[in-house]
Amino acid sequence: MRIFVHSCCGPCLIGVAETLRREGHEITAFWYNPNVMPYREYRRRRGAFREVCDRLNIKPEVADEYDLPLILGRVLAPAEKPGRCANCYGLRLNETARRVADGGYDAFATTLMISSRQDCDLVRGAAAAASNKHGVPFLDRDFRDVEESSHAAAREMGVHIQGYCGCIYSEEERYRKK
Ligand code: SF4
Repeated sequence: MRIFVHSCCGPCLIGVAETLRREGHEITAFWYNPNVMPYREYRRRRGAFREVCDRLNIKPEVADEYDLPLILGRVLAPAEKPGRCANCYGLRLNETARRVADGGYDAFATTLMISSRQDCDLVRGAAAAASNKHGVPFLDRDFRDVEESSHAAAREMGVHIQGYCGCIYSEEERYRKK
């Protein structure tokens, strides 16, 4: 199948791309993550995404939208989980699903399903809603078995690995714990 893979970052893309390719799928990696802040971190992650695509010869598609008013005003309006994350997954996966038919892909997937730090059931729900809305199939796959190897490969490549999920709330949650 031709699969359009929403990619939250480069390090998570590695394992998902290798898994899908091993199974014979053709993939295009899609960057659309306006939830990542602040801007310098957004730029670093976007750079890591591009570097992984270059190194693994993956075709990239980039929606380079850094939109603080959208994220702060709408997505992060509920400050707590799971409300804000449901909005955040919904925003990104809707945009992904919206592009599937136009791009001639058979289905979409997301690297969010590789991460033990993400709420995979919530991701699945947002993907199902996006799939219904745009009439395109979601490849519902749990990639968490390759999370560790994916990040190990990223370390070997020397690409930026983020320390927190993306929004300013997740940054605080991550570093307050230290
Ligand atoms: S914690 Fe992550 S998924 Fe949840 S709103 Fe923040 S950036 Fe989005």
